[in-house]
Amino acid sequence: MLLIEEKYRTVAEILFSSGTCPRCVLRLCCVGFPTPYRLPYKDLMEELRKFLTPGDGDGGAADGDNAPPNKKARLDDSDGCPAEEAQSAETSGAPKTCNLCLGILQHLSDVEFVKKTFHKVQSAGYEFKDFVFSVSLPAQLLVREHCAWLQAQQEMKKSGRVLDKGDIIQLKEAYKWIIHPLISDELGVQAVSKSAFEVGVVFCHQETDEDCHFLATVCKDCFKPAKNKHSVFTRMAVVKALEKIKENDFWRHFPWPPSSPKTTCEVVDMQCNHASVFVAGRYNKYSRNLPQTPWVIDGERKMESSVEELITERLMAVFKADSFNFSSSGREDVDVRTLGRGRPFAVEIVNPHKVQFNKQDMKDLQEKINNSDKIKVRDLQIVNREAVAHMKEGEEEKTKCYSALIWTEKNIKKEDLDLLDNVKELKIVQKTPLRVLHRRPLASRIRLIHTMTTEYVDEHHFRLYLKTQAGTYIKEFVHSDFGRTVPNIESLMKTSADILELDVESVDVDWPPALDD
Ligand code: ZN
Repeated sequence: MLLIEEKYRTVAEILFSSGTCPRCVLRLCCVGFPTPYRLPYKDLMEELRKFLTPGDGDGGAADGDNAPPNKKARLDDSDGCPAEEAQSAETSGAPKTCNLCLGILQHLSDVEFVKKTFHKVQSAGYEFKDFVFSVSLPAQLLVREHCAWLQAQQEMKKSGRVLDKGDIIQLKEAYKWIIHPLISDELGVQAVSKSAFEVGVVFCHQETDEDCHFLATVCKDCFKPAKNKHSVFTRMAVVKALEKIKENDFWRHFPWPPSSPKTTCEVVDMQCNHASVFVAGRYNKYSRNLPQTPWVIDGERKMESSVEELITERLMAVFKADSFNFSSSGREDVDVRTLGRGRPFAVEIVNPHKVQFNKQDMKDLQEKINNSDKIKVRDLQIVNREAVAHMKEGEEEKTKCYSALIWTEKNIKKEDLDLLDNVKELKIVQKTPLRVLHRRPLASRIRLIHTMTTEYVDEHHFRLYLKTQAGTYIKEFVHSDFGRTVPNIESLMKTSADILELDVESVDVDWPPALDD
């Protein structure tokens, strides 16, 4: 059953006799069900011929009565008749290439293509539970389809009917109807419209590449050169131009019927890609010689490793990914340790090949990372993209706790420490520190020191515990940064002071969720 409505009979006839494949005939006749497209090519040919031949019994929706009398002659007589050629081609196993789909609904939906796709996907070595199949089609297909639609519309007008372009079945859609179940069967998983795993195919057809070019002379402003596009004839631009062009102008440049190509569309690229996976956790840093991210100046490494590398090299190996993006809730200086429950971080893992990890797998991965004595991670887990944004949200409002070992020039008295212990919600103004001026704009920021507590060590040393607003520069608050932070420990204690050690004790970001050990 072809399910072609009787009113489309002459459209079907005209297309078929011009060298259009039966599947494209179905499309232009607005057959909106997958079943007929999936019929074997030979059967489809048979059915269509039956439909177009009056009095031939079961002709799908055709009942024969309205069929024009000269149809049979038209199909059989003309020189190089496509129907005949298709028939002989059928026996030789290769149908003539369709003038509308350029072979996509013929050769590129056959067993061989499906096998090729399967091998490509299999050899790429991805884990996936379903897939989306995306195709990129050459833009000239739009021109050829427009031509067929105009012609079909003219035909429909004769019987007072209209043929809306939107009712035609898109080539992409028909192609997916055919190819999805075939590839699904091979891969053993469902083709869906949205999946993290994508198989992308790019088709090209050199022979008809110039089909679009006349549009640029008629609709100049539709075709503007764009960066990173090798041709101005993008699908978007061609669609726009075809919406604009007047019917007569189109016919002048692109008369019916479109030429029958000698060659078939080629697959110029086939790629697999898996959407990013996001892994989050919290890290402790125990070393005062370890930067958070690789420290490279003028191409020369200053420190041999980094927190980022110690975490991500394990992740990359296990997820078998192409690349990654590391982010964290703030950062500490190279000589600052991060203690307590650690600092939240997230890693975007780009194009991972392995993605199926259970809780135990993640625990094992965490243990591997924790083989280092410089860092430790906890709460390592897979999260979604939206959750990562959480980490960065309201970062400025969060509080952070620090402990610092401080040296003072004068002998420390009890009153000095009492004074600091009693500080609550101290407002300080910090000019951008000299040490970061090369990468941050000069500005004055107000920050809050929520509380401070002290611990006497000896006459010239004490330990200071601070709870501050995120973004407070602690080192500058202690030594004043040449008076650029006011007030500061020096001004409060009326002595010269310096910071000898600094540790982050906690980063009060309530993410990622804690996991049971
Ligand atoms: Zn076709």
